[in-house]
Amino acid sequence: MKLHNEICPHCKKLNANLNLKETDGSYECIDCGKVTKVKGISRNGRWIPLLSPEDLLRKLGKTPSVAEVMAK
Ligand SMILES: [Zn+2]
Repeated sequence: MKLHNEICPHCKKLNANLNLKETDGSYECIDCGKVTKVKGISRNGRWIPLLSPEDLLRKLGKTPSVAEVMAK
């Protein structure tokens, strides 16, 4: 399971540890309750993925050193 942090475009509240995959990119703001659909991953810079070492391994297609993992 991959969790994400999103900043609500309506009230700027940080919504942490969202499971966007489960909701197909939608989340309900914990503060204002508005439902926001997230798209354009990393395009607008608001998307902060929390990658596990396993995810990094898959992305890189090789075994990164600890230093490489920390630098991502
Ligand atoms: Zn909000």
